[in-house]
Amino acid sequence: MALKQAAQSECRFRVGAVLAKGSRVLGQAPNRRRNAPWVDFRHATFHAEEALMRRFPARPGAVLYVARLDRRNCPALARPCDRCQHVLSTHGISLVHYTTADGAGTLCLSQPAVDARKLG
Ligand SMILES: [Zn+2]
Repeated sequence: MALKQAAQSECRFRVGAVLAKGSRVLGQAPNRRRNAPWVDFRHATFHAEEALMRRFPARPGAVLYVARLDRRNCPALARPCDRCQHVLSTHGISLVHYTTADGAGTLCLSQPAVDARKLG
């Protein structure tokens, strides 16, 4: 499902994210272009994880799946960046599965000391 989201992305790096809890899919999103002339290249897109988290309050216990497609439509490394990892951990998400060029990886995020549910 995350790969399907990535296929819908219009960005140069096509990334998709799916948030699930148990067997329920809570939401999904590709990364998006940020149409503001003053943003630099590094911040020119909303990462898929960010785009998804912006739509949700904290979801402790939810699992995130992130996928990236390269130009040949093959899965590529989609490990969440530091900025997204921070956003995810403040949303109570501690487990991320992501694609790599040769399979999949798993990332365990430590939770912040504050109660994530209050940050919503
Ligand atoms: Zn990111």
